Amino acid sequence: MSLDGHYDPDNIFAKIVRGEAPSVKVFEDHDTLAFMDVFPQGRGHVLVIHKRADARNILEIEPEALTAVTLTTQRIARAVRAALQPDGVLVAQLNGGEAGQTVYHLHFHVIPRWQGVPMGRHASGKMADMAELKELAEAIALEIS
Ligand code: AMP
Repeated sequence: MSLDGHYDPDNIFAKIVRGEAPSVKVFEDHDTLAFMDVFPQGRGHVLVIHKRADARNILEIEPEALTAVTLTTQRIARAVRAALQPDGVLVAQLNGGEAGQTVYHLHFHVIPRWQGVPMGRHASGKMADMAELKELAEAIALEIS
């Protein structure tokens, strides 16, 4: 999908927000939601979204909503660091199919990185173990301040 188009209210993240699709939640407040990526590019890969902004990408989102989702992304990045002690934390956000975007509801990726551990392929289709994702989500959630 290109940068032009319309927000689809039935995209998978919108369904997660409405409780119509499952997710392993890490954090939720009035505006934002953080949950584990089920096809993670590394251990502890978290996604952060705005719950109501019908924006497909960073070009479309209203400044106030962008602020809320960015602040939650920072909280999650800090919590990921505290919980998992990575050597680095990658924060990424893709816009349009040519940039690698596969889900058209604005989201930030928070991906912990360790020296010598290569990053997994993006949206690989290899589903993570749910019990492990829940453990990681709990460990990260405990460190959110
Ligand atoms: P992007 O390609 O930047 O749009 O990222 C979409 C991300 O959503 C990818 O990293 C996928 O692994 C992830 N993803 C797709 N479906 C789900 C789902 N149902 N629950 C959690 N993560 C998902």
